[in-house]
Amino acid sequence: MAAILGGGLGGLSTGYYLLKNNVISNNNLKLFLVEATNSCGGWIKSIRTKDYIFEQGPRTIRPKGVTGLNTLNMIQDLGLSEHVSPITPEHPAAKNRMIYVNQCLHTLPSNIKSVFQTTQPFSKPLIYAVFYDLRQPQKHMQDDSIYNFVERRFGKEIADYAISPMICGICAGDAKEISVKFLMKTLFEWEQSHGGVMKGFMKSIFRSKSGDTLELSDLARKAQEEKWNVYSIKGGLETFPTALCDHLKNNEVDIQMNSKIEEIDFVDSSTVLLKNDIGEKLQAHHVYSSIPSHSLAKLVEKQHPELAKSLNEIPFVTVAIVNLFFEAQQLITPAFGFLVPPIENSPILGVVFDSCCIPDQNGTVLTVMLGGRWFKERFGDDVTEEQLLSIAMKEVNTILKINIQPSVNNVSILRNCIPQYVIGHYERVDAIRQYIVKNNLPISLVGSSYDGVGINDVIYSAKKQVEDCI
Ligand SMILES: Cc1cc2nc3c(=O)[nH]c(=O)nc-3n(C[C@H](O)[C@H](O)[C@H](O)COP(=O)(O)OP(=O)(O)OC[C@H]3O[C@@H](n4cnc5c(N)ncnc54)[C@H](O)[C@@H]3O)c2cc1C
Repeated sequence: MAAILGGGLGGLSTGYYLLKNNVISNNNLKLFLVEATNSCGGWIKSIRTKDYIFEQGPRTIRPKGVTGLNTLNMIQDLGLSEHVSPITPEHPAAKNRMIYVNQCLHTLPSNIKSVFQTTQPFSKPLIYAVFYDLRQPQKHMQDDSIYNFVERRFGKEIADYAISPMICGICAGDAKEISVKFLMKTLFEWEQSHGGVMKGFMKSIFRSKSGDTLELSDLARKAQEEKWNVYSIKGGLETFPTALCDHLKNNEVDIQMNSKIEEIDFVDSSTVLLKNDIGEKLQAHHVYSSIPSHSLAKLVEKQHPELAKSLNEIPFVTVAIVNLFFEAQQLITPAFGFLVPPIENSPILGVVFDSCCIPDQNGTVLTVMLGGRWFKERFGDDVTEEQLLSIAMKEVNTILKINIQPSVNNVSILRNCIPQYVIGHYERVDAIRQYIVKNNLPISLVGSSYDGVGINDVIYSAKKQVEDCI
């Protein structure tokens, strides 16, 4: 028996790769997945009607890099190719990504030409950042915040207006706390080994590229040829975990919903007992945990307090999502949306223009994101959904000049939904995995707490963890 703990994208992908690598059939094993709630997909939740789709969690997936192409391979394999809705480079959502600074929306540079021009709110063309980097001394460090690194190498404006909002958009976090290795591991390594990013970049041109390679599906090849920027899934992103869940069920994986695991008992190096909330004990020879690290900490605390302590050191933030549907079309300029840099001290993190990025919407659909790293200090512990809606509407009114009420709205407070890869994260995860190996614990860690917070990272992490166990 092998067990998967959690039925979010991480757990479902683990099941998919265990089946794909014939780990189950070759070893005559049975596989079961336990999920605390009554549905699979974790944070991926879509509300679908004939007029609009409200995505309460993620909405777009990046097709680039090995991890992005790997997801497209999986999507084709699940028979979902026809559901993919790409955003190509000519699409307004690819060209127009904005930030809100000094009470004004500014479009960020999106092509080579604009790098040589001065674009507000930057006071100089972005190309100056290259010369800035060449003049800065090297600073030897194990890790650093992404904000400090970018400020040191490329200047304060890039850190404030490009990187800080980007970090808000990706993980609702504070760039002053997030590790540089989260997005810029290679650039940081270039600084550490060669004294600067540009110096490292020049040397890398003459070195042969190594790293993971992948056999590409037709869909992945199409994404490369057409240079997709991002893509969404027609009918809502939830279609994706639903297809994965069906795939597992069709391949005799026992999916146990409404079963919350409350304790893990490691008996020996190939026996583990999962105790659920109705007192049942489920036995497995190996468990793949895809639940958030803070949830796993509670389950292992009794037997392994040291492991629990390290797992608890990975912080999480709460995000509020306000989905709005207006019957009127074209209330907004076509664009992906805008982000608000933290120095603006706004109550919102940003707004996604869903009716521009996601197909089949009969009106204007917007999603306002609030809180993240600043949730508690801005809204406290007792903020209501009505208050969040009113804050979101006030900002939509001020920034986008939309002064009509939405026909439909949906507010969700997603408590502790996004892990924060703060300085030292990667070393902490290494230490956690070393503890597991040293103590011969039959457990593998997957999911967004460890190897990347995005959809592609979670899927790729599941693939790697399964392959490592073969
Ligand atoms: C608001 C938001 C927007 C996002 N936007 C994007 C985006 O646009 N693009 C992108 O690539 N990524 C995005 N992400 C990230 C992406 O959603 C996550 O990477 C991914 O969904 C995480 O999947 P997971 O399986 O690791 O975790 P989860 O989705 O948290 O799944 C864990 C599962 O485990 C279950 N569980 C927990 N404890 C137990 C227990 N004790 N027993 C049994 N089951 C348990 C939970 O019920 C849940 O179903 C976004 C995330 C959020 C929150």
